[in-house]
Amino acid sequence: MTIKKNYIAGEWVEGVSTTRNVNPADTSDIIAEYATADAEQTKAAVDAARAAFPAWSQVGIQQRSELLDRIGQAILDRKQELGELLAREEGKSLPEAVGEVGRAGQIFKYFSGEVLQMRGELQPSVRPGLDASVTREPLGVIGMITPWNFPIAIPAWKIAPALAYGNCVVFKPAELVPGSAHALAEIIVEAGVPSGVFNLVMGPGRVVGDVIVNNTQVDGISFTGSVATGRNIAAAAVGRMAKVQLEMGGKNPLVVLDDADLNTAVECAINGAFFSTGQRCTASSRLIVTEGIHDHFVEAMVDRLKTLKVGNPLDAATHIGPVVDERQLQQNLNYVEIAKEEGAKLIFGGEQLQLETEGFFQQPALFVDTTSDMRINREEVFGPVATVIKARDYEHALELANDTEFGLSAGIVTQSLKNSTHFKRHSQAGMVMVNVPTAGVDYHVPFGGRKGSSYGAREQGSYAREFYTTVKTAYTLA
Ligand code: NDP
Repeated sequence: MTIKKNYIAGEWVEGVSTTRNVNPADTSDIIAEYATADAEQTKAAVDAARAAFPAWSQVGIQQRSELLDRIGQAILDRKQELGELLAREEGKSLPEAVGEVGRAGQIFKYFSGEVLQMRGELQPSVRPGLDASVTREPLGVIGMITPWNFPIAIPAWKIAPALAYGNCVVFKPAELVPGSAHALAEIIVEAGVPSGVFNLVMGPGRVVGDVIVNNTQVDGISFTGSVATGRNIAAAAVGRMAKVQLEMGGKNPLVVLDDADLNTAVECAINGAFFSTGQRCTASSRLIVTEGIHDHFVEAMVDRLKTLKVGNPLDAATHIGPVVDERQLQQNLNYVEIAKEEGAKLIFGGEQLQLETEGFFQQPALFVDTTSDMRINREEVFGPVATVIKARDYEHALELANDTEFGLSAGIVTQSLKNSTHFKRHSQAGMVMVNVPTAGVDYHVPFGGRKGSSYGAREQGSYAREFYTTVKTAYTLA
C-alpha cells in the first residue's frame, strides 16, 4: 500500500511512522496509510511557513485570487470522487459527503472574490493637516487544527481565508480522517501554491498539535474540536500572546411551539438531530416542545425515525451512516445508559446495530420525559442521540433553550412572527434558525457561537478577516 506523505517546505515527505485510515462502515476496508509527523518535522513545517511569509504577504491580490479560484475549481471538478473518499473515511452518507466537498469548493471560490474586496479607511486626523488611514495586513503563520466530522469543509474555511489574506499555513487534520485533508493538500499543491506557503502535517494532536500551539513562530491558531482540547489550546496560546480562535461543542436546542407546522417541525428535528449521524457541532440534540403539540410531535418523530435506514454511506438507500469510530460509538452508548439511569424514557433506538459489514452502526436514539438538569441535556454526546424536553409555553421554552453552557446554534419552529422575532432577539446562541434545522449554514456569513461554544473572532464570510488579518493605523502629515 502506498503511503500518503506530509507536505513540508514544498516537498512530499515521509513521516516517522504511519497511520491507517479505516472505513467505519467496513473495518476490513483500509483506505490508505498516511505519514505521521513528529515534533521535529512539525517544527520544520513552521519554519518553512515563517520563511515563506515575507514574500507571500507581498504577493498581489490578483495572484492570490487566481490561486484560490484554481483550487476551488479543482475541488468542484472532483466533487463526486472526493465525496466518495469522504464518505468512506468519515461515514456520512454519500449525498452529504458530496455536498460537503462542493461546499469546500464554493468556499475557495468565495475567498477568491473576497480578497479583491479588501478595503481600508481614510479619515481626517483630529490634528489639522494629518490624515489617518486604517489598513489590514496578514497575521503571519497560522496553525490550523481540525476535527474529524467535516474533513474537507472545515479545513477549507480556515485555509481559504488564510491564503487569501496573505498568511502561510501549517495544517494538522484529525488523525482519524487524513484522506480528505491529503486530497485537498494535493489540489492546493497542484494549483501552484509557492513552497512553504502551505504545509500539511498529519499526526496526533498531542505531538503535532502541541508543537503548533506552543511554537512562538506561529502567530495565530484556528481550532475546531472538543471543549477540553480547545480550553488547553487557548490557555497555551494566550500564555504566549498568540491570536487564537476556537469553535467547539454545542447542545443546540430546537424549540417547537404549539402553532408549528408539524411536518416542518419533524423534518427540522430529524435533519438537525440525526443526519450526519448527529456528528455535527450544530446538531439539535435538545428538542424543546410545548405541551399542546408534544404528543403529536413525539408520535410523528417515531414514525419518521422508523423510515430511516442506517447503513453503508455509499449505498444510495442509506440515510444515516456509521459512527466515526469505536471510541465515539462507546461514548454514544454510554450516554444512552446514563440517560436511562437518570430517568429519561427511551422511546426509539439507541442500540448498536450489526449489519453485513463490521462497522460502528447505531440506531438513532430518541428520549422523552427528560429535564434540563439531566446530563443528557447538558453534555455534548456528538452522536445520533436526541431528547425531548416538554415546555409549558413559549417563555418556558426560551428559558430552557438558553439553559446551557453552550451557545452555538438555536432553532424555533413556529408560525408566529411575534415569537420567532422574540426568539431571534433573546436566544443566547451565535446562530438562530427559524423553521429550518439548527445545522446547515451559508458560507458567506459568519459562523460561530457564544458562551462555551466559541472563543475569538468568527469564521467564514467577510468576518473571517478579523482573525486572519491585523489592523494598521498610519498617520500622514500632508
Ligand atoms: P479533539 O478536540 O480531541 O480533536 C480535535 C483536533 O484537536 C484533532 O485534530 C486532534 O488531533 C487535535 N488535538 C487533540 N489533542 C490536542 C492537543 N493536546 N494539542 C493540540 N491539538 C490536539 O476532539 P476529538 O476528535 O477527540 O473528539 C472528541 C469529542 O470532541 C467528540 O466526541 C465530540 O464531543 C467533540 N467534537 C466536537 C466537534 C465540534 O465541531 N464541535 C468536532 C469534533 C469533536 P488528533 O485527533 O489527530 O489527535
